[in-house]
Amino acid sequence: MACRQFDKAADAISLPEAIRDRTKYPRRCLAVSLPVKRDDGSVTVVEGYRVQHNLSTGPAKGGIRFHEHVTLGEIGALAMWMSWKYSLVGLPYGGAKGGVIVDPSKLSETELEHLSRRYMQEMVNFIGPHTEVPAPDVGTNEKIMGWMMDTYSNHVGHISPAIVTGKPIAIGGSQGLREATGAGGAYLVKKYLADLKIPLSKTTVAIEGFGNVGNETALAHYGAKIIAISDYTGAFYNAEGIDLSRALKYVRYQKVLRDFDGAEPITNKQLLELKCTVLVPAALERVITDKNAAKLKCRVLAEAANGPTTNAADKIIDARGNIELIPDVLCNAGGVIVSYFEWLQNLSNFYWSRDEVLTKLFGILDQAKDAVDTQQKKFQFSRRLAALTLGIQRVADAKATRGLFP
Ligand code: GLU
Repeated sequence: MACRQFDKAADAISLPEAIRDRTKYPRRCLAVSLPVKRDDGSVTVVEGYRVQHNLSTGPAKGGIRFHEHVTLGEIGALAMWMSWKYSLVGLPYGGAKGGVIVDPSKLSETELEHLSRRYMQEMVNFIGPHTEVPAPDVGTNEKIMGWMMDTYSNHVGHISPAIVTGKPIAIGGSQGLREATGAGGAYLVKKYLADLKIPLSKTTVAIEGFGNVGNETALAHYGAKIIAISDYTGAFYNAEGIDLSRALKYVRYQKVLRDFDGAEPITNKQLLELKCTVLVPAALERVITDKNAAKLKCRVLAEAANGPTTNAADKIIDARGNIELIPDVLCNAGGVIVSYFEWLQNLSNFYWSRDEVLTKLFGILDQAKDAVDTQQKKFQFSRRLAALTLGIQRVADAKATRGLFP
């Protein structure tokens, strides 16, 4: 999916042959076996990956995913999208991503700590504050980033907070990072709704994936009505609006939405096809496919997840012309922007207030949105093609300018 998107974008901007493959293929990949000592004394070996797609525009950067369906190909695609995302919003990073084939909910806290520390231990010679800076992704969180930072710091012999972002505030985390991906997405949705002249008071939202990103993208604090939410245990609908704080409280105690009593149960398939103003896929890849793209009844499709729409579905949505798609590389860029702020604060040992963080975040998103909208109008591209061509062109330009070491 990511490679075909690249080919299409490279054709659209006539990217010279000499620079195409250099821009497209990952720079390096690492696959590791991670032995984890279990609470019962046994040892389980799990497989982990790290892919650095681009190291030409700055240190590589990207999340670490703990999920049972992780594959090397998936991590490669996600690393590639990170490159275009950083480049689109003008951050001095290259794309990277990591993953471990594991269901973190099946590990105890101690086992999770062992695994996280072991993953970092295996990466020590591959990453660094100026080489590659990991961050949270699906299945990982600030606690895990804290263990990883501690492991790396012990290895180098001094505290090294800039080795990962998304840490707890007490050890160098940034104000505003936990909610940044969703807050950035919500901010962009609000701006696109204003362009469409749809008032927030008349906006209904359906969220696929009620996790850290999904619940923040909900627009509830802007006055929209959330009519549906879901996670991997079930989907729930309430035409009158779901009480967000009640759902958040439920998930805090129950961990998942299963049996949530604040709305009617529906299927995940039904959720995606609900009539709503904004549909927010906020979990994994490939949920909007050629099977459901023609049936979507939203006005705005806000891709808070990475890669939620297949290329075949993209074509259908494009042809329909009645859905405003906010592509992933723009829609969820808020997280990486504040990750960048965290890294800057760590390197300079000078910390910013939450207001400063959010003001700077929204300023960068404004610029990125304007650039995408201009590119879209100038070349009559879809919004995704506009965003990808901008991201890809900047990486290719940097590579061409640096030249090729003989
Ligand atoms: N995992 C997040 C993403 O996919 C954030 C990565 C980062 O902050 O480096 O955008």
